[in-house]
Amino acid sequence: MRVNIHTEKGMVPAVFGWPAIHVRNRAKEEPPSIKNIFLDCGCNSKKEVEKLGIHVGCVVTFADKLMMLNNRYFVGRALDNRIGGFMIAETARLLHRGKVKLPFGLYLVNSVQEEVGLRGAEMISRRIKPNVAIVTDVGHDTQSPMYNKKTDSDIACGKGPILTYGPAVQNNLLDLIIKTARKNRIPFQRTAVSRFTGTDTDAFAYSGEGVASALISLPLKYMHTTVEMVHKTDIENVIKLITETVKVIQAGQDFRYLR
Ligand SMILES: [Zn+2]
Repeated sequence: MRVNIHTEKGMVPAVFGWPAIHVRNRAKEEPPSIKNIFLDCGCNSKKEVEKLGIHVGCVVTFADKLMMLNNRYFVGRALDNRIGGFMIAETARLLHRGKVKLPFGLYLVNSVQEEVGLRGAEMISRRIKPNVAIVTDVGHDTQSPMYNKKTDSDIACGKGPILTYGPAVQNNLLDLIIKTARKNRIPFQRTAVSRFTGTDTDAFAYSGEGVASALISLPLKYMHTTVEMVHKTDIENVIKLITETVKVIQAGQDFRYLR
């Protein structure tokens, strides 16, 4: 894979090197691990490497671009969860364009470090102290070969946002989201978890005195690879569902009680 090393002198291109098949003993070969992988930036000495501005701790990203498949799917790295940032920004844009006046304060939060323990969501939930949290993340499409539709949820890209049932999800808020989807003819899929959603929802739900939280996920293929894939209409439907839900939440609405 080609990579970019981010240094104070700018971006330095490099590659993950790996010996050719001809010179390897495949029977005894160690799989790639943190112990044997390396980056080659075309230098012959440590001094040369350092001259490029590279040091321990430099951030490295895969040199991959977004592409489209069959005018239907976006393919790219870290769509989980850069696409979430895009979708909430679009929500803000739609609310602004529709001149929607909300009877409450709306915070759009693109929180960091979800993958390493929901840390950003923990911090921001305590700072904002929200009454309601609608969280968006990605969820596994399980239609491709080697996935298991029987043990994992049967979820497909193109069939709409995924709504999760689970302890961290507040049922009355989820009902409102489902009613909103039906009213606006937005397709959706269901999944259920017994413990954690594995998303920022867990951090918001149990922050402060408890926050009514729900999760609207975007189906995604090949999670945590450089070729994560999402469906165009699913993106549109997640944006629509979040936007329409935000529009029907009332000032001071307490989701512990049914309206
Ligand atoms: Zn992830």
